[in-house]
Amino acid sequence: MIVAIDGPAGAGKSTVTARLAEALGFVRLDTGALYRTVALAATRAGLEPDDPSLGGFVAGLDIVVRPDGILLGGEDVSLAIRTPEMSVASSRFAAVPCVRAGLLDLQRGLGRARDSVLDGRDIGTVVFPDAEAKIFLTASVRARAQRRLDELQGRGVDADLATVMAEIEARDRADSERAVAPLRKADDAVEIDTTCLDFDAVVEACRRVVEAARATRG
Ligand code: C5P
Repeated sequence: MIVAIDGPAGAGKSTVTARLAEALGFVRLDTGALYRTVALAATRAGLEPDDPSLGGFVAGLDIVVRPDGILLGGEDVSLAIRTPEMSVASSRFAAVPCVRAGLLDLQRGLGRARDSVLDGRDIGTVVFPDAEAKIFLTASVRARAQRRLDELQGRGVDADLATVMAEIEARDRADSERAVAPLRKADDAVEIDTTCLDFDAVVEACRRVVEAARATRG
């Protein structure tokens, strides 16, 4: 079974998906981490999103997803991909068709290997349009920025609310307006606005969507 969780930055996808997968006994795949890893590798190699060699570069990357992190060429980059710079860079590289194409098979292969919960921007629309359960998580920009700020400060990253809000709004725009696989709710996704819900309530709402999908499958 595939559970697709999409939505804008800071809507709570990561934490909710991790808890939901645990509750269901499913594997969790954070697809944003894949785009972040590509952005990190390309940035280190001095490549810009319009570099004609980008497609071949992405195809040659050695990316391994583990339950406890993500490896790039054997190096654990789980923390290096979580900086504000990599948030911006991942969004820029994610708009490039060859980057998206390069990560499609990887996502599908990992997702099909076992019952999985995948979170991203285009899981229910492009990667797994036939996913049995689809959820679209949203929240106000302010609530999303506050959560992202708490998360960054919790990791000791220096940041302020106005800057994080501006970054989230810019990323929303870039992710929604790009030509390839833009962020949008799939027609058959259930939308959950998390602005005024606490974490447990969101997880519970997601679990009910999955249970309803299971019941429909018989
Ligand atoms: O989810 P996260 O914020 O870590 O994702 C980083 C960036 O990767 C997003 O802003 C988006 O541009 C891109 N992304 C994407 N498609 C996905 C997951 C992430 O375009 N399925």
